[in-house]
Amino acid sequence: MTIQALLLDLDDTLVDHRGAADRGLRSWLAGLGLASSPAELEELVERWFVLEARHYERAQRRELTHTEQRRVRIREFLPGWDLADDALADDVFAGFLGCYQAAWRAFHDAAATIERAVRAGLPVGILTNGDQAIQTEKLRRTGLLRSDVPVFASSSLPAAKPDPRSYLTACARLGAEPAHTLMVGDSLRHDVVGARDAGLQARLLDRYGRQRDAQVPTVRGLAELRWVSAA
Ligand SMILES: [Mg+2]
Repeated sequence: MTIQALLLDLDDTLVDHRGAADRGLRSWLAGLGLASSPAELEELVERWFVLEARHYERAQRRELTHTEQRRVRIREFLPGWDLADDALADDVFAGFLGCYQAAWRAFHDAAATIERAVRAGLPVGILTNGDQAIQTEKLRRTGLLRSDVPVFASSSLPAAKPDPRSYLTACARLGAEPAHTLMVGDSLRHDVVGARDAGLQARLLDRYGRQRDAQVPTVRGLAELRWVSAA
């Protein structure tokens, strides 16, 4: 595949978001002493991720701000707590956030793949749905932030993935043509279907072999990516 530029997703592509959220959530819940049995703990963990998916999506559609979706999540997650006060809700959410951030880890193949693309002369960007400051900090703490690899977070873009404007803005900022830009990420909808609809090339990253039914070009790790640089 001949490409001029590479766009990489961040969460669950470069950084193990789901693993960090899971480990962080469990250590936060243990600190709160909320679960009285292993079954109850699993129930809480499951409920947390259902609420996360529901309200994070609403924030991506701009129905809620990033801060509002956190407040809605924490209030629904802890219905017995009086979290009507915004500052208090933020404070309780910050407890989870600290545990989550402490658990951030880059995947083993992330830094090497970025380096390989940069050395090949490709403009590389990170295109992620999320808050610019948080996503940049995530990259910094996991050792992936580089001055030659811009971070395009949806909070700083006209729209979030899978809106075509997100991919097209990132391509424009990299000075690359969409048809010669490769988008790689773990989400079929956000990183592959949306990217192709916007005219980019795309590869699905299926690290855990859970998306075998997806009828799209797939890699199991970033090291499997092969390209010819036309940059
Ligand atoms: Mg992702």
